[in-house]
Amino acid sequence: MKKIVIHWFRRDLRITDNHALSLALNSGFEVLPLFIFDEDILNQLDDKTDRRVDFIHQSLQNINQELKKYNTSIYSFFGTVNDAFKYLTNEYQIAEVFCNEDYEPNTIKRDENVKLFLESQNIKFTSIKDQVIFSKNDVLKTDQTPYTVYTPYSKKWKEKLNANHFQNYDCNVDHFFSHSAPLHTLEEIGFKKTDIHFEAPILNQNIISNYDEYRDYPSLDHTTHLGVHLRFGTISVRKCVEYALNHNQTWLNELIWREFFMQILAHFPKVTTKCFKEKYENIVWRNNEIEFTKWCNGETGYPIVDAGMRELNETGFMHNRVRMIVASFLCKHLLIDWRWGESYFAQKLLDYDLSANNGNWQWSAGCGCDSAPYFRIFNPYEQTKKFDKELIYINHWIPNLNDLDYPTPIVEHQFARQRALKTYKEGINNML
Ligand code: FAD
Repeated sequence: MKKIVIHWFRRDLRITDNHALSLALNSGFEVLPLFIFDEDILNQLDDKTDRRVDFIHQSLQNINQELKKYNTSIYSFFGTVNDAFKYLTNEYQIAEVFCNEDYEPNTIKRDENVKLFLESQNIKFTSIKDQVIFSKNDVLKTDQTPYTVYTPYSKKWKEKLNANHFQNYDCNVDHFFSHSAPLHTLEEIGFKKTDIHFEAPILNQNIISNYDEYRDYPSLDHTTHLGVHLRFGTISVRKCVEYALNHNQTWLNELIWREFFMQILAHFPKVTTKCFKEKYENIVWRNNEIEFTKWCNGETGYPIVDAGMRELNETGFMHNRVRMIVASFLCKHLLIDWRWGESYFAQKLLDYDLSANNGNWQWSAGCGCDSAPYFRIFNPYEQTKKFDKELIYINHWIPNLNDLDYPTPIVEHQFARQRALKTYKEGINNML
């Protein structure tokens, strides 16, 4: 039997400028492109119309269109990762398995197990950096400890950046292994079609060049919507950073926030369940379930909050300015544990990413590294005046705003503000 190598697609769903795939294609062996519909992940998703599964599925179909030229397609496996590699090592003579590094705590463990198993079969496992410019230990303080404040981190990040970081990993792709395992359908893996329509990502010059000027106005929708593409690797981060460098520093800073939170998660995995600043663990949250449901459904009676939550529920996206407002409202006005909001976003956001979601929720709650101070409480009315003065965004998501059935405010703003200040202060001081 002919020896082959495998490229295991995960968060890198593209053929062009894909670091691990380029190594596989240069290995001298034919490459079997693999995707595993991982039961361990899929079983955790209660909603069988999850847009992200459909997005992944459409991205794979898109890759298959390209692979047709090389007489191959994605080898699709439905089951656990362990079962996949047991099966594949029985079926094929495999010289090496290539993939791009993944930095979430669970995926690190998964990859360690796969590596151990493959090595027990004398198969090499190679994983390599692709989804970031700088990973965990690439940008450290001079004493080799991690940065926990964004501004000095981003300064060092920019100092270290050079032209080599934009190396293009395109290569001769005519080196694939042909097989006859068709892509599983969504139904075969227990999911259904959604309203998502995969569109190839573009670096939109109009949006990126004027990003700093217009990004904060939700009705303008002047952000790139590339979050989902960066999440699943349907765009190369190297291309984004190179473009940002040439077109807009503010947009570059956002891409650096992404890596900042990734390295925080990698160095401090406890943040997945705990406040980065421990003393915030002592805050006594109200955690009123009825109020939480109203927040989730966009029925708080605060139009900017409700508009944001309705945008999220209807599309899987929410504008960043509004994400900050709804998150602050949940933690401060309603005194509901930030972890409840984090988990709701994790179910709904198309661009959901553990490190960014966790980092931003902790920032909003005031308990994260380099957070907004706890006494900074967004006033939803002032935010509306500043960022949606003409109520265009609000009216779009709440057409019945002036009807009698639109709810009255769930809590009075000044009262909620004072209550939050008192509760936070007591919680934090309790630990001293
Ligand atoms: P753009 O504004 O065009 O920015 C480009 C890219 O930079 C984004 O796609 C993203 O990859 C990155 N980026 C931008 N802002 C941030 C940020 N503050 N932190 C980390 N990366 C950033 N972003 C996620 O990618 N996944 C999440 O799960 C997520 N959850 C969030 C939860 C809360 C409570 C808040 C306040 C923000 C969250 N963000 C999250 C950050 C930000 O809101 C989104 O990245 C952005 O709105 C996505 O829209 P865009 O793709 O048009 O981004």
